[in-house]
Amino acid sequence: MKLMVIGGGGREHAIIKKLKENPAVEKIYCLPGNGGIAADAVCVSEIGAKDIPAQVEFAKAHGIDYAVVAPDDPLALGAVDALSEAGIPCFGPDKKAAVIEASKAFAKDLMQKYNIPTAKYRVFTDAPSACAYIDAEGAPIVVKADGLALGKGVVVAQTVEEAKAAVRAMIEDKTFGQSGARVVIEEYMEGPEVSVLSFTDGETLVPMVSSMDHKRALDGDKGPNTGGMGAVAPNAYYTKEIAAECMENIFLPTIRAMRAEGRPFRGCLYFGLMLTKSGPKVVEYNCRFGDPETQAVLPLLKSDLLTVMQATTNGTLADVSVEFSTDSACCVVLASEGYPQKYESGFPITMSEEAAAHCYVAGAKKDSDTLLTAGGRVLGVTAVAPTLRAAVEDAYHLAEGVDFANKYCRGDIGSAALAAREE
Ligand code: ATP
Repeated sequence: MKLMVIGGGGREHAIIKKLKENPAVEKIYCLPGNGGIAADAVCVSEIGAKDIPAQVEFAKAHGIDYAVVAPDDPLALGAVDALSEAGIPCFGPDKKAAVIEASKAFAKDLMQKYNIPTAKYRVFTDAPSACAYIDAEGAPIVVKADGLALGKGVVVAQTVEEAKAAVRAMIEDKTFGQSGARVVIEEYMEGPEVSVLSFTDGETLVPMVSSMDHKRALDGDKGPNTGGMGAVAPNAYYTKEIAAECMENIFLPTIRAMRAEGRPFRGCLYFGLMLTKSGPKVVEYNCRFGDPETQAVLPLLKSDLLTVMQATTNGTLADVSVEFSTDSACCVVLASEGYPQKYESGFPITMSEEAAAHCYVAGAKKDSDTLLTAGGRVLGVTAVAPTLRAAVEDAYHLAEGVDFANKYCRGDIGSAALAAREE
């Protein structure tokens, strides 16, 4: 079989490495891919993740049997619709269903309509009304740009002034362009956060093993938000009881709601949850695999990923087994020092054979035979072990086997999860 994966980060590398475990897979193309993914797939750097017409042409010309659309942008732009129309079966939601991530206002309205637990909220398109609402509600309070904003459109404001400044920046100064033309203002919630990725064919939903990501740049959850500095799976806060509650009150109601709205969701639905004193609540939905959670979760998948993905497309998920190992996984992201602000790149990357076998490359390019850093988050290394403590130790050992100038990683990935386990 010939497969095509759209995207070019660590998440896509993790998907590709897992897909390759199926002996029926002869060739995987990755559009655009990156210098590190090139070790596991044929990268087509000329075709970007958002260039849907070129992706369709490529798929037709190369006899692609199945495509996987991983990032949010092409999903929101209708890549799955276009590929399906061209007769290429595809993993991921269509444009109508991808709106669950592409519009936070849509997601919040859906949750309200179908009684899915989430923070209280209001949607605004004009700054004065939004500011009046903030005055009435007080701080802390959360301001979110409605549309996609590369994970940067959320301001958890500690003061009323900070919240109002965020509203003005989004609506009046258009710091996020059209994505911030509408804002969602949300009640501040407190509690441990859990990520749950799931496979769904629109009817059946199978949650993957839970995970915990580490969004802040510095140890102790300090510093600015990043694309993610590491992740562990499973998440110790997510007990069997909480999982059952989430299945009944959040996961199944969400896919039923999407069906009822005429937007059946097929693919990977990501639930960002907060375990509040009044029960688990939805912080956000993503219409795709998360990064770097995927790099911790997929190595624990025992079943064949391609079979499971195809079952979500064909509506036969109830008939396939989706099993996860009971081991733990830890992914440590190695970044260029300075990320997410200013950083230098273009430095050669060397790694031990062991690290190479367990690494997922995000920001790197190939210059003849040398791999060079080419981004903020350069790569992640994932270790799997019978205990979380061992997985964390092994992941840091793998991280030591990778070398490049300005290498930076957090030193405490997994410590919050270990502390939770001991609580
Ligand atoms: P992502 O990069 O995960 O897609 P996003 O831009 O879609 O992020 P959210 O996940 O909605 O944004 O929010 C980002 C983070 O802000 C959350 O992980 C959480 O820590 C915090 N947050 C969001 N909403 C709330 C809330 N209502 N109360 C407290 N914290 C919140």
